[in-house]
Amino acid sequence: MTAAAKPKKAAASTLASRLAKLGLRSDADLVLHLPLRYEDETAITAIAAAVLGETAQFEVEVVSSEIAYRPRRQLLVRARDDSGVLLLRFLNFYPSQQKVMQPGVTLRIFGEVRGGFFGDEIIHPRFHAAAENEALSDRMTPVYPTTAGLSQAALRKLIGAALARVDLTDTLPDAMRMRHGLEKFAASLTLLHTPPPASSAAELDTLHRPAWQRICFDELLAQQLSLRRAYAARRNLGAPILAARGDLTSRLQAQLPFRLTGAQQRTWAEIAADLAQPQPMQRLLQGDVGSGKTIVAALAMIRAAENGWQAALMAPTEILAEQHFRKLQTWLGSLGIEVAWLSGSLKKKEKVAMLEAIASGRAAFVVGTHALIEDAAQFAALGLAIVDEQHRFGVRQRLALKDKGTGAPHQLMMSATPIPRTLAMSYYADLDVSTLDELPPGRTPVVTKLVAHGRRDEVVARVRDACRAGRQAYWVCPLIEESEALDLQTAIDTFERLTAELAELRVGLVHGRLKGSDKAAVMEAFTRNDIQLLVATTVIEVGVDVPNASLMVIEHAERFGLAQLHQLRGRVGRGAAESACVLLYAAPLSHTARQRLKVIYENTDGFEIARQDLQLRGPGEFIGARQSGVPLLRYADLDDPTLIEKVRAAAEELERDHPHRADAHLTRWLAGRAELLKA
Ligand code: ADP
Ligand code: MG
Repeated sequence: MTAAAKPKKAAASTLASRLAKLGLRSDADLVLHLPLRYEDETAITAIAAAVLGETAQFEVEVVSSEIAYRPRRQLLVRARDDSGVLLLRFLNFYPSQQKVMQPGVTLRIFGEVRGGFFGDEIIHPRFHAAAENEALSDRMTPVYPTTAGLSQAALRKLIGAALARVDLTDTLPDAMRMRHGLEKFAASLTLLHTPPPASSAAELDTLHRPAWQRICFDELLAQQLSLRRAYAARRNLGAPILAARGDLTSRLQAQLPFRLTGAQQRTWAEIAADLAQPQPMQRLLQGDVGSGKTIVAALAMIRAAENGWQAALMAPTEILAEQHFRKLQTWLGSLGIEVAWLSGSLKKKEKVAMLEAIASGRAAFVVGTHALIEDAAQFAALGLAIVDEQHRFGVRQRLALKDKGTGAPHQLMMSATPIPRTLAMSYYADLDVSTLDELPPGRTPVVTKLVAHGRRDEVVARVRDACRAGRQAYWVCPLIEESEALDLQTAIDTFERLTAELAELRVGLVHGRLKGSDKAAVMEAFTRNDIQLLVATTVIEVGVDVPNASLMVIEHAERFGLAQLHQLRGRVGRGAAESACVLLYAAPLSHTARQRLKVIYENTDGFEIARQDLQLRGPGEFIGARQSGVPLLRYADLDDPTLIEKVRAAAEELERDHPHRADAHLTRWLAGRAELLKA
């Protein structure tokens, strides 16, 4: 490499990495990077006609330029046109900039006019020295989402160049496009990048609407197509046929202390039908907290074992995995079936033995944590992979379990975060969905109370009463954003305080930093009622099941998200006793916190809570990149079920009648992102 080539190359790679930050890796990506808004540089406004608070372009002559030192160092440039005067104020500036603004120079400036102490002013206007008779732009100036070190001007240039190079051929056949009332792709894109001038924001909006509709349609279409393809690709793999054999599933049902609900029977039948097919099941079992997903999973696992295949159940936390393990042991032990347990906290020797049992196929039922997907774990014959609370895993982790077999095992995902229908249609287009829409009978609904922190004493007294009456309680400690260490400290402080306040009770503490075996010991003591009051961090959020616990106190409930509050509240109301959930909050509440607490107070149905959560937060945050692993839609909203229905139909039609167009569409929208969509 020559010395001269070096810096250039370095600059190119910085540019590339900045673009990569924006997800821009190709020309196709660049042209689909659409403006956030526009600036109007197509006209010049007279200073006298400027509207305070609005952004506009002016052409001015510099009258004076000076540096002031009070209240702080700043550059003050006085400027005028024929109609009036304007102050340009720069709090940061380079000498080179100062140099441009010499008295007598004509400037084109652009910025928001405000009423200031010195009269009308613009702080940090964009400016350049105007050339004689400099032409006005005949297009609106797009403003793009960008990142540090990448200027709007540079980005505009790159996008402009890409637009000239990229093939903008329509991927929709004309007939289909017109049937859906859509504009052409190329025209839509060009309009959005370089719109003609509009006299008002409303006019611009009207002008843009059809173009945005086209873009959103295309984006959703790409998502649907890719999910359909992922589904179809997995359908093509062979999976073991797990048919009804023997009587183990009916024997298990016969000895349960309860009868399956109608919803459990229905979803089990759906799952059993899938398992009997030679293609891998790809099913999501969703059901509200406490709807009884575990027994359905157990039945599926037994079906696998009856056919001589292994079944694995992976849970996101050690506590939950351990609990599943115990439950399966109780249920299956009496059928003479052994359940194996694998977690990160096993002692080395136990772990080696367990891995060996899994690899040899001796362990037919395996329950565990992430340890199941570590490299060391290899299954002899994995026929069924179940992931509980699947939204808590990243995509890669979720998929890793199915890759632990030699062929393609059947997959069952379970989730207690119910997804509203439109989201499910969009994000789970590649999964079949079974829904448990019925809670087991005999549950008394949980009464929710909102209590201001000032009345904490009353809440403590309530805990005492409940425990004296033989019940148990949870006390969930506040969540401190982004600081696990502080979370922990608060939990310890709360534990000590409650131990002192409730000296007659057996109080326990569980948090995420405890060693796995210690955590398990605490949970077991709580299950046996050796611990009456359990102080906890959100580690108990998912799945923990102790029916005798009838009181849940959540401190600083205003800091929790809706899904979390719903999950936490779901820890009680699992037995026959009247249960309550006390949400302790600290006033004053922010507007959104108030709205959240109102939703959780007024609703018990998880689907309804999820729907309102979606409304409060928008789909992007609701589903969350971490939760779904699916890239967020950048442009389209998921709040229009009829649009999503249309797009689904279009995806099906395109795939069937115009597969090459479907290919081109996917390449345009998702080249390079396909990995993310294989959820
Ligand atoms: P989740 O859907 O939240 O995972 P679980 O599977 O943990 O729910 O079940 C919650 C509780 O309900 C458990 O104690 C379970 O044994 C019990 N349960 C499950 N199905 C029934 C039923 N049909 N009748 C009564 N209790 C049930
Ligand atoms: Mg569960």
